[in-house]
Amino acid sequence: MKHNPAFSGDASSIPDALHRVFGFRTFRPNQHEAVSAILEGRDLLAIMPTGGGKSLCYQLPAVLMPGTALVVTPLISLMKDQVDGARANGIRAASLHSALLPDERAEVMRALSEGSLDLLYVAPERFALDGFQELLRRIRISMAVIDEAHCISEWGHDFRPDYLSLSAIMDIRPDIPVAAFTATATRRVQQDIMQKLRLRNPVIVRASFDRPNLTYEVREKHRGEGQLAALLKEFPGQAGIVYRTSRKSVNDTAAMLQKRGLRALPYHAGLSDEERQRNQDAFIREEAEVIVATVAFGMGIDKSNVRFVIHADIPRSIESYYQETGRAGRDGEPARCILLFSPGDIPKVRFFIDAMLDEEERSRSLAGLMKVVAFASSTVCRRQVLLDHFEESYPKENCASCDVCLGTLEVVDCTLESKMLLSAIVRTDARFGAGHIVDLLVGGDTKRIREFGHDRLNVYGVGKGHDRTYWRRLIDELVVRKVIARSEGLYPVIYLLDGALGILKGGDRVEMVRVLEKRAGKGIPKGSGTMETEADRVLFDRFRALRKSLADEQGVPPYVVFSDRTLHEMIARRPKSREEMLSIAGVGEVKLGRYGGPFLDLITASEKG
Ligand code: ADP
Ligand code: ZN
Repeated sequence: MKHNPAFSGDASSIPDALHRVFGFRTFRPNQHEAVSAILEGRDLLAIMPTGGGKSLCYQLPAVLMPGTALVVTPLISLMKDQVDGARANGIRAASLHSALLPDERAEVMRALSEGSLDLLYVAPERFALDGFQELLRRIRISMAVIDEAHCISEWGHDFRPDYLSLSAIMDIRPDIPVAAFTATATRRVQQDIMQKLRLRNPVIVRASFDRPNLTYEVREKHRGEGQLAALLKEFPGQAGIVYRTSRKSVNDTAAMLQKRGLRALPYHAGLSDEERQRNQDAFIREEAEVIVATVAFGMGIDKSNVRFVIHADIPRSIESYYQETGRAGRDGEPARCILLFSPGDIPKVRFFIDAMLDEEERSRSLAGLMKVVAFASSTVCRRQVLLDHFEESYPKENCASCDVCLGTLEVVDCTLESKMLLSAIVRTDARFGAGHIVDLLVGGDTKRIREFGHDRLNVYGVGKGHDRTYWRRLIDELVVRKVIARSEGLYPVIYLLDGALGILKGGDRVEMVRVLEKRAGKGIPKGSGTMETEADRVLFDRFRALRKSLADEQGVPPYVVFSDRTLHEMIARRPKSREEMLSIAGVGEVKLGRYGGPFLDLITASEKG
C-alpha cells in the first residue's frame, strides 16, 4: 500500500480512513457498499442524488489503493473545485486539461510518473488524444471513475458525445475497476450507461432520491417584482439561486434585486465567458448571496451551502425541477425549494415547445411540461410526486416538509365563479380578451365597456366579490383545463371549448388550489435548528468570517474549508481541545492541522466575551 504522507498512523482500514481523511464516523446510506465494491475490484454503477456524497465513494478507495485514480468529469470549471475539495482533506489531487500552463503540466506529469497522486481529474475530450491513451498504458492506475455518467446517454438531459469514447478505457486498461456515478438516472438511462460504458457485471448501488433536508413549496406567482423581493427577506445573508427562463428576465430580476440592496448577480448563456465566470466565482466565494440564472447555471457548481432555490418561472420538466432544486442543501442542512407558479406562464413555454421541429422532442417536452403543471396544481405531497418520477415510492403518509403536508394549502370551489366567467364570454360573443372580460366581471368603468354598452349586460359587475388577480387566475386555470382557450395572434380573444358545457349546463365542478398566505412558510425550518441563542448566531457569523478569510488566503471556496454543517456542529458542541475538534463531523486530520487552531481560538474568545 502506498503511503500518503498527509496521514499519520494506520489509515489503511476503511473506518479509520473515513475518520482521518474526511472526519466522518459513519457512512451515508450506500457509501459503504460503493466503497467496498471498488476495493474488491468490481465495476460499479452508483446512482445517488446530489448531496448524497458521491465524491467520498471514490476518494476514499483512491487514498487506500496503490496508484492514481483517474476521474473523468464533464466540466473544467468543476475540476478546480473538486481538486480543491480533495486537497483540503490532504488527498493528493490534480487535474490535466488544456488550460494548464506548461509548468503546471510538467508538474502533474512528474507526480503521475512518481506515483504520488491519489486522484487525477480529466475531461472526456482527453480520451480522443493519442498521447493520453499512451500515458494511461504507462502509469499506475488504481481505477477509472466516470462522474456525471448520465452524460453518455442521449436519453438523459445533458448528453455529451465525448462521453461515448470513454468505454475505450476497458480496452486500454482491462485490469482496473470502472466506477460510474450519476445523480440522474431513470431505468432507461441506467441501462444505457451500463451498455455504453460496457461495465462488466457491475455492482449497482441505487440510493433513495429523497432529499429529507429539502422543503418543497409552490406559491401562487403574483405579477410584478414585490413578491420575490419579499420572499428573499426570509433568507437574510443566505446563499440561494433564483431560476428564470429568459436572459432578459434574468437581467431584469438581478437588476431589481440589486436596486433593493441585495448582492445578486445574473448568469446566462448570453453573458461573456469572463462575466459568467466572475459572477459564478463571486457566488461560490460568498461575495454575492443570490445568483439569478437560466438553467445554464448549475452543473458547474459544487457549492454545498445553497440554502434556497426559487423558481420564478415554470420549470421545463419534473426532472429538471428535481435537478435544479437538488442544488440546495448539499451539506445536509435544511434548505427550501420554492416554485412560484402561475398558469399564465404556460403559454410562453408552449410557444417554444410548439416551435420545436422534431415531433418526438415536441411531444416529449409537452408531456414534461404538463407533468409540472399537474405537480404545481395538485394537493398531493410534493415529495411523493417527485419520487414517483424516479419510480420510487415514498413510504410515509405525510412528509412534514412540503406545503401540502404542512397544511398551507386549501382547495376552494369556484364553480359559481366559473359560470359567471363563461356567461360573460357567451354574452359578449367571444370577441374579447381576458382584460376586458375581467373589467366586465368586476364592473369596471372603462371606455370600451361604455362603447359596447357592456354595462347594461346582466353579467356586468357580478364578480365584484373578487379582485382582478382572482379572475385572471381563474381564466388561466380554465385554459389549462381546456374549458376555454385563447386565440392566436396579436389580440387574443377568449372562447369556449367543449368542456365549458358541462359547467354551464351540467353539474361539473371547478376547484382551485390556493395558498393560505397567512400560513405559507409556517412550520418550515428556518436555517439551522442548532442556533438557538443570540450568542450562537454571533459565533456563526464569526465562524463564517474566519472561514471566508482562510478560504481567500488559500484561493478556495469557503465551503471547502468547512461545510455549514460542520460549523453548526461546532456551535452546538463548542469543542475546547484538538481531540474534541477531531470528533466534529467534517474535521479530519489535515483540516484539524490547517484550520483547527484559529477556530478553537474563536470558541475560547467567545466563551470569555
Ligand atoms: P454529491 O457529489 O453526491 O452531490 P458530495 O460528495 O459533494 O455529494 O457530498 C455532499 C456533502 O456531504 C459534502 O459536504 C460532504 O462533506 C458530505 N458528506 C459526504 N459523506 C458524508 C458522511 N459519510 N457523513 C457526513 N457528511 C458527508
Ligand atoms: Zn409532503
